[in-house]
Amino acid sequence: MSSIEDWYRKEVDEDDVFGAGICSCAQPGYHIECQWRILAIRAKFEESDKKLLKKYAVSEHYGVSKNNQEEFKLACKKLAERLQQKLEFDETKVIENESWWFIPHGWIGVLGFIVEKESDDIYIIGSRTEPEFDAYAYWHGIEWYSSGHGELYEAQT
Ligand SMILES: [Zn+2]
Repeated sequence: MSSIEDWYRKEVDEDDVFGAGICSCAQPGYHIECQWRILAIRAKFEESDKKLLKKYAVSEHYGVSKNNQEEFKLACKKLAERLQQKLEFDETKVIENESWWFIPHGWIGVLGFIVEKESDDIYIIGSRTEPEFDAYAYWHGIEWYSSGHGELYEAQT
């Protein structure tokens, strides 16, 4: 009835943080119950993702809408200037809200930035997350920002 699937087999075989041939439960080999656990976690994440996109994204999807490309470019320029860095991020993971952009340019401990549309304020989204928060960590930062607790990014001088 149930069988080890290729995607899970591949994950175990990969030489990642757990090492080649080690399952995410830290034991060697393939385990059907681990495969189910991973699927359940993913389904939960996807569900949260959908809900949060509906709550925050103007289009209810990731990405930059066609009509706002120019505005988005300006937001990127503003962020790059403030950081004094060339931005590198996946544009399909950008989130557009009525009043801000989430730009997933980051590094270790930084998941991205919120660039406000109507002000010069830029907020840093860190990887701080609650253990019971079952969505991608940047959503936690976005919710935190939306509740007025965002951490304003100050350029180093
Ligand atoms: Zn396992």
